[in-house]
Amino acid sequence: MPTSMPETPHVPHFIRGATLPSSGGDALRLTGPADGAPLGVLHPARTEVVAEAVGAAAAAHEEWGRLPVKERVQPLIRFRSLVERHLAELAECIHRENGKLRAEAEAGVQRGLEVVEFATALPGLLGAEVLEVSPGVDCMTRRHPLGVVAGITPFNFPAMVPMWMFPLAIACGNTFVLKPSEQVPSTPVRLGMLLRDAGLPDGVFNVVQGDRHTVDLLLEEPRIRAVAFVGSTPAARAVHQRGTANGKRVLALGGAKNHLVVVPDADPVATARSVAASATGCAGQRCMAGSVLIAVGDSDAIVEAIVSEMASLRPGVEMGPVISARARDRIVGCIDRAEASGAWVRLDGRGVRVSGGEQGFYVGPTILEGLEPGSPLLGEEIFGPVLTILRVDTLDEALEIENASPYGNAASIFTTSGAVARHFESRVRAGMVGINVGVPVPREPFGFGGWNESRFGVGDITGRDAILFWTQARKTTVKWTSRQTNWMS
Ligand code: NAD
Repeated sequence: MPTSMPETPHVPHFIRGATLPSSGGDALRLTGPADGAPLGVLHPARTEVVAEAVGAAAAAHEEWGRLPVKERVQPLIRFRSLVERHLAELAECIHRENGKLRAEAEAGVQRGLEVVEFATALPGLLGAEVLEVSPGVDCMTRRHPLGVVAGITPFNFPAMVPMWMFPLAIACGNTFVLKPSEQVPSTPVRLGMLLRDAGLPDGVFNVVQGDRHTVDLLLEEPRIRAVAFVGSTPAARAVHQRGTANGKRVLALGGAKNHLVVVPDADPVATARSVAASATGCAGQRCMAGSVLIAVGDSDAIVEAIVSEMASLRPGVEMGPVISARARDRIVGCIDRAEASGAWVRLDGRGVRVSGGEQGFYVGPTILEGLEPGSPLLGEEIFGPVLTILRVDTLDEALEIENASPYGNAASIFTTSGAVARHFESRVRAGMVGINVGVPVPREPFGFGGWNESRFGVGDITGRDAILFWTQARKTTVKWTSRQTNWMS
């Protein structure tokens, strides 16, 4: 059995603790975003492979679901150390397929490890509740696993988003089938190998490679009880509808259009750094990326500082490429449309050249200003390093713009006034709010999740809500006396 990920031209599935070469049917070609080099091919799983993976997970659940939680977390404790030991290798794999900088890739894995840590604390969180409800009669609640569950993940965080899902799901006693993005398929296979090396029984964690048709097969598979999805809003909506129609529990996180509000009293240096990092980190391909900067009143000096900070970022050095030629062309198309509609391209990331990455898919930091109100570009998710500036006179106008967005993932304000921050925080319609924080990701034990069209289903995908999502409660009433104690028992 290989101990490291082979640089195979055929990306494998991972089923029952072993890699299974993908084969048959259509082949999807993988290309390195940083240099355009061919990386291999992937054959999406169809009925047989999906059935094989779900069968492996169902068989493994017989025993795994019955183990006490204190035993279930032991492999995860060892997995945490193994991931740390293999951090550079995992980051390299992420960099190769996703293109993001190695430091960004490492940070994503480390964020995923926080969820692993939370999962290893499950014995302290999953304890039964017991209460004497009548004399001599106890009622207790114990949380049980659901069975076989699935996760479907996007391209932008090849390790972190899967790690939002499987550590808690398996610590809760479920067995897992992951369908990673077809654009970044290899990292979860490597994570599967590390889980196996950490002592996780075969079949508890499986990976099927595939596309949207593979997702459809998972959603039609009756043995899968719950599905966690992260991706774009149209796909999240479709997965939620189809999964729930098939009787599954579904939580589907979607896309975003995040607003960053700057008021005149904000600290210009810290704000510029934070806004620029929010808009350009991971080349703007984050659901938490700042996309629209709303400058309130006379914030000119701060806006200028943001423009210079973004202008100083060098593609290929401080910024990675976007995921594909198609994504690059779509983003460039958005900038072209903005320009054609009369907007000012204050900073133009089109046509950037990166030495050594001439065949890579780069878009430089871009700033648009002067888009007409109602322009579709103010509402749609661009998912690239593009920041649009809007100017308003009052904070309430800024709130009105933010709250009119159909999304509700993240929103931030930059200010040195507590009263201003509180006004914003209590009125903004977003699930994750930042005060002087450009990427307001809640860290464990707080849960990650947006509102409105950024989420379909109930609760957050991490934190305590996730424990509820991956388990069901059994309520047991116990009486060890033959005495009739009251009307009930
Ligand atoms: P995507 O929706 O194209 O794909 C996500 C996953 O769904 C992939 O595994 C893909 O194979 C599958 N898929 C695609 N279309 C589908 C369909 N119609 N039905 C069923 N499955 C389908 O997303 P992407 O381009 O990989 O990732 C970027 C998107 O993900 C952005 O919109 C971003 O905002 C979002 N995202 C959201 C969060 C969040 O927490 N809300 C986090 C990361 C990314």
